[in-house]
Amino acid sequence: MFLLGHVAYSYIVSKSSAKPLGAKIPISLAIMLGILPDLDILLQGLGVPHHTLTHSFIFWLPVAIIFAAKLGSKSIPLILGIYSHLAADAIVGTVPALLPISSIEVGLSLPIPSLYDAALEVGGLTAALLYMYTNGDLSILLRGSRQNLTVSVPVIAIVALSTLFANHNEISIVTYAFSRWAMTAITIGHIILLALLSTGVCTGVLTYWTTLGGNLDSLPASSSLESKRRQKRS
Ligand SMILES: [Zn+2]
Repeated sequence: MFLLGHVAYSYIVSKSSAKPLGAKIPISLAIMLGILPDLDILLQGLGVPHHTLTHSFIFWLPVAIIFAAKLGSKSIPLILGIYSHLAADAIVGTVPALLPISSIEVGLSLPIPSLYDAALEVGGLTAALLYMYTNGDLSILLRGSRQNLTVSVPVIAIVALSTLFANHNEISIVTYAFSRWAMTAITIGHIILLALLSTGVCTGVLTYWTTLGGNLDSLPASSSLESKRRQKRS
C-alpha cells in the first residue's frame, strides 16, 4: 500500500482507540505511526531492501513491549497505529511477518497498483477526512493551532519517501504517478492529503506568529510598569 492508505488507516485506528482510553494523540503522531515501517526506504541506498525487516510483526514487538511498559493501556493506540501499516501491506501484497526467524511472506497478495488498492486507499482517505470532520481535527488543521507545526514532520516524510521510492525504481515520479488510472486516483489522493496537511502547517505557523506578536505586545505593558516603579522610587 502507498503512504496515502497507511496515513489514513493509522490515523483512524490510533485516534479511534485513543478516545475510549483517555489518551491524547496529536494529528502528526497519528499519521507518523503509519509511516514508520516505510522509513526503510531511506536505507535502500545503503543496500537495505525495502519491505523487509521493518515489515515484520516480530521486529516491532520490542517497541510494543517498551510502549506498554511505559504507558500501560495508553500505548494501545501507538501500537495499533504501527501495526495498521503491516496489516494494510499484508492485504495489498504480502509482508515477511516473521523476520528474522522466517522469511515466509504472509498476506492476501492483492496487486498494487490495482482497482482494489485504489479503492482501499481513496476509501481510507475519505473515511479519515470524515472522521477528522466529526472529531474536530479538520477544524484544527484549517483554523490553526500551534500543534499543527508538528504536522510538518509527516509532510516532509511523505514527500521525501515518495520521491526516494520513485528514484530508486528509476522512474520519473510524474510518469509513475499518472502511469495508469488506479495510480492517478492514488496520486490525486496524495495531493489532497498533502494539500490539507500543508494548509495545517501554514495555519500553525500563522497561529505561532500571531501568538508571538501577542506576547511581544505585552512587553511594553510590563516595561511601562517598570518605569512607573522607577518613578515611585525617585
Ligand atoms: Zn510498507
